Amino acid sequence: MLTNVAFTTAASLKHNFPNHPENNERVPAIVEALRSAKLLERMTEITNPAAAKLEQVTEVHQADYVQELIERLDSNPTYLDSAPTYFTHASLQCALHAAGASIALVDTVLDKNAQSGFALIRPPGHHAVPGAAMGFCLLANIAIAARHAQKRGVERILILDFDVHHGNGTQEIFYDDSSVLFVSIHQEGLYPGGGQAYQTGINTGQGFTLNIPIPAYAGGSAVQQILSDLIFPSVRHFCPELILVSAGFDAHWRDNLSNLQYSGRDYHVISTALQELASEFCSGQIVFFLEGGYDLPALSESAVNVFRALLGEPSIDTLGPPLHPEPDIRNQLTHIRSLHDF
Ligand SMILES: [Zn+2]
Repeated sequence: MLTNVAFTTAASLKHNFPNHPENNERVPAIVEALRSAKLLERMTEITNPAAAKLEQVTEVHQADYVQELIERLDSNPTYLDSAPTYFTHASLQCALHAAGASIALVDTVLDKNAQSGFALIRPPGHHAVPGAAMGFCLLANIAIAARHAQKRGVERILILDFDVHHGNGTQEIFYDDSSVLFVSIHQEGLYPGGGQAYQTGINTGQGFTLNIPIPAYAGGSAVQQILSDLIFPSVRHFCPELILVSAGFDAHWRDNLSNLQYSGRDYHVISTALQELASEFCSGQIVFFLEGGYDLPALSESAVNVFRALLGEPSIDTLGPPLHPEPDIRNQLTHIRSLHDF
């Protein structure tokens, strides 16, 4: 059976800052790679998605934070934090567009106009907390999309974050919430510093946050073990109705912002596994959202591998294998599993 895959773009060309890794070349690089792989014509493009409405944003963010962003529009371009997260005259409009594109793609999948999708959006979202911008992120795109899906009646959502950095914003938003299982695989000790395994949720959300911090140089074998030892059992225990994925590609061995060693093929492996879980629990419904990934060749080839997995095509890897031997993480994974019930 042919899989119907949708995508949408919010390239946010006007949200840009000199010499910043989170720049306006990122989404066009992915689209160009899809074009040369002749994949664009095999998918449904959701064109001109509406910007998110302020009331959709404030389902997740504090109203005074949104007001602060509106008031800053008259000021000169500036940094909002030390990451640094930049903010220009165009940034709020771009962020609302990215969040709106996220919502539109979730609607496309929930309306069964496509089975799966990938929102190629920026600025990214998973570091943004309810009351502040953080880590190149202004609005929490995936969380806004998740709340939108819940308003449409979806009760249990898996949010899986494989960006190399901990998805602290998403964690904070859903930390006391048993309706969202939040799973983050990230390099331990990296920005923004949280995401320790013992952070498992609070109150009714206890057990619904699964942090998987892994050491520098972990790569393809780690991915396989994490999937079999932690992801499959935890997701099968939770039984999600929808799967949303924070898809950052900065764990690729070429990316300068971290020291994990995923290859392009590993993103295909992860995506295939998640698609399998979506078929098992969610009628195949799964939506990916672009987060980080700053080495353009690695970013675009890795993103193409997600699309290839969704389309049932084999992986490609033209960039070669990682350079360093992988550490053994079995004891760490056993420890993480001991902190959970699944
Ligand atoms: Zn990242």
